Amino acid sequence: MRVAFLGLGIMGRSMAVNLVKAGHEVSAWNRTPGKQVEGARSAATPAEAAREAEVVWMCVSDTKAVEQVLFGPDGVEPSLNQGMVIVDSSTISPSATRQFAERVRTRGVDYVDAPVTGSKIGAENATLIFIVGGDEAVIERLRPLFDAMGKQVFRMGETSKGQAAKLVMNLQIALIYEGFAEALTLATKLGVEAGTLLPLIQASMIRSGVVDYKAPFVLKRDFSPNFPLRLMHKDIHLALDAAREARVKLPGLETVEEVYDLASEEGYQDLDYAATLTLLEKWAGVEVKAGS
Ligand code: NAP
Repeated sequence: MRVAFLGLGIMGRSMAVNLVKAGHEVSAWNRTPGKQVEGARSAATPAEAAREAEVVWMCVSDTKAVEQVLFGPDGVEPSLNQGMVIVDSSTISPSATRQFAERVRTRGVDYVDAPVTGSKIGAENATLIFIVGGDEAVIERLRPLFDAMGKQVFRMGETSKGQAAKLVMNLQIALIYEGFAEALTLATKLGVEAGTLLPLIQASMIRSGVVDYKAPFVLKRDFSPNFPLRLMHKDIHLALDAAREARVKLPGLETVEEVYDLASEEGYQDLDYAATLTLLEKWAGVEVKAGS
């Protein structure tokens, strides 16, 4: 298929690489020039990338970035063609997603929200899970592209329901990781090393995918970004905004938001969100170590 891929960050670049590997014709664009995908045509603007495309696939930071890529100067809008499909793998606001979808629908263009879970490793290994909202038949047409980049597609309902489900997934990741980080901090303070505690966690009902993914990085004290803290912070805000709109109270997430506010003030935005641990360590006066 002819695909315009917009946004070549941690996730987008590997996704575009996997589309090329699967034999799709990709034109790629990134806001900051210099990021390229071997085997793809580099486009100077989103409009240029989208001109001949059957599918426009986005993976950019946030709601504002998606709006700019679609409707800003040099955005996709003038290149919209009847029958085209826009797919958004960024994590953004469900209500803004509905507005963007309505705006392109007036031009005969379908819109599918397809945020992902699986992080950097999932993007690199084409094992992402897509959390999708949109028309079933349109999603089926996209199947070869989903297959090239991921291992599973879960349809949550009509357009914007993928984003809604993604927000509640990240709500859980943020809370589970914070629980893990608090447990490691207290354990260390009480004299139990992380390397001793971890096999117990993994043998028990506390075991989780979040801990499986993050523990090796934490034990190596590698806080380079797989999922940057600034993006998890953004997702916490999106979930709290959606909760406010729906008149739902989320006291756990509100508390975790405060930790992220403080971590951002400390300058941790571009580290992995796992670096929230270092804030807890600072407060407790300990450093979590794998042990001997
Ligand atoms: P990233 O490495 O920070 O990349 C962000 C991309 O968005 C870059 O290509 C950036 O361009 C572009 N961008 C930012 N603002 C823009 C704007 N105003 N206009 C156009 N392009 C803009 O982020 P990522 O980790 O790939 O994440 C991308 C999306 O996937 C986010 O919504 C994130 O929440 C979601 N996500 C990430 C993960 C993960 O583990 N990393 C997992 C699931 C979902 P420049 O190069 O010019 O800055």
